[in-house]
Amino acid sequence: MALKNNRLETHQYSEYFTDIHPPFETFDAAVIEANRCLFCYDAPCMKSCPTSIDVPKFIKQIATENIKGSAHTILSSNIMGAGCSKVCPVEKLCEGACVYNLMHEKPIQIAKLQRYSTEIAIENQWQLFSRKPTSGKKVAIIGAGPAGLSCAHMLSREGIDVTIYEKESKGGGLMTYGIAAYKVTPQFCEDEVNYITSIGGIEIKYNHELGKNLLLDALQAEYDAVYLAFGIGLARQLDISGEELEGVEDAISFIYDLRSNELSSIAVGDKVAVIGMGMTAIDAATQAKRLGAKEVTLVYRRTQEEMPCTEHELNIAKLDGCRIIWLASPKEIVGREGKVSHLVCEIMQLGPADSSGRRSPVSTGETMTLEVDMVIKAAGQMPYEHLVKYNKLNENKGKVVINDKAVTNVNGVFAGGDCVNGGKEVVDAVQAGKDGAAAILEFLK
Ligand code: SF4
Repeated sequence: MALKNNRLETHQYSEYFTDIHPPFETFDAAVIEANRCLFCYDAPCMKSCPTSIDVPKFIKQIATENIKGSAHTILSSNIMGAGCSKVCPVEKLCEGACVYNLMHEKPIQIAKLQRYSTEIAIENQWQLFSRKPTSGKKVAIIGAGPAGLSCAHMLSREGIDVTIYEKESKGGGLMTYGIAAYKVTPQFCEDEVNYITSIGGIEIKYNHELGKNLLLDALQAEYDAVYLAFGIGLARQLDISGEELEGVEDAISFIYDLRSNELSSIAVGDKVAVIGMGMTAIDAATQAKRLGAKEVTLVYRRTQEEMPCTEHELNIAKLDGCRIIWLASPKEIVGREGKVSHLVCEIMQLGPADSSGRRSPVSTGETMTLEVDMVIKAAGQMPYEHLVKYNKLNENKGKVVINDKAVTNVNGVFAGGDCVNGGKEVVDAVQAGKDGAAAILEFLK
């Protein structure tokens, strides 16, 4: 057993990492699906979208062959509507709320329709929004992820000059660096960022990191307001012995590497264990399997009932051939000659509900051992607590505390997205960016 790259033929890499949700192939196919929509009054699909996209309206526009109008409807509510159509867990949002579910019929393919219009808009560089004359006001945004980009676009439309400071060399945040490659390609992320900034008045300065080569004090002095959207990123440790062994990696780094390098250069083991059952765990497990790992086992300390990922995501992992072990919690990682050889897990049972409302796992005292050569930890991410404290921002367990209008305790400094909520969906970050922009506009008045 060994960690190896180049496990596949060249054609297999492109085959295994191709779009998992292919688009409509023809205009007619999109129109036929759009015509299934009942155009509900008080539509539940719209209510369940965090950015409140007017779903029946944009679908009606597709049905009446008004693709530009449809893209405008989507992007006015969610400027990352194209990316969200690929990565949103729609089964628990818009499509999960579609009335067809109540009739035990297949819900309208809202995401696929949304993708249809918005991809055409990006491909054709349709400028659907205009920018008001420059107001003379300047805003700095930390982070070119979904919250930062959404905030920037809304401010720019109002004539504010925006500078985004981004620590990476590309924009898009989680979309670019933290999501399985078969959901969204790096090229698409780049195109989407360019499309958003093409409105004008938005400059992105890459390789600028708050706390390293960027200081909040300096930004406050130079700009009329600052919006913090630096996300979260530090992987939570398991705090068990053996984490230092070769072959133990965190899922965030694993996916980051995979998104930033040639797929063939990414090494995986023969027998991989992935700890956790959130979306990142599923992404790491399916990517490891598709990179050529022979066996991938997801290990979760609770049961399917309590898992954070959706059933749809779980099914993707199962279809990829990943094995699931429920009610098992990592106890120790064992190595041989400095390399991982086994993962010892405690066998759990469910006890009373904890503060999250889910039943908590309790050890049975028994253990099981898996033979592995790679362990990927996907036990969640931690906020940048040191950054929050250093900048004297009010914090709650490392997350920035804001009022209901994105305002922090520091004058002229606003915040939103994952650095505030601890990590939610891309679509939640887009809405946070809109809320932040609205608060900043109010402040600048
Ligand atoms: Fe159309 Fe379903 Fe939304 Fe009704 S709930 S408007 S049928 S997508």
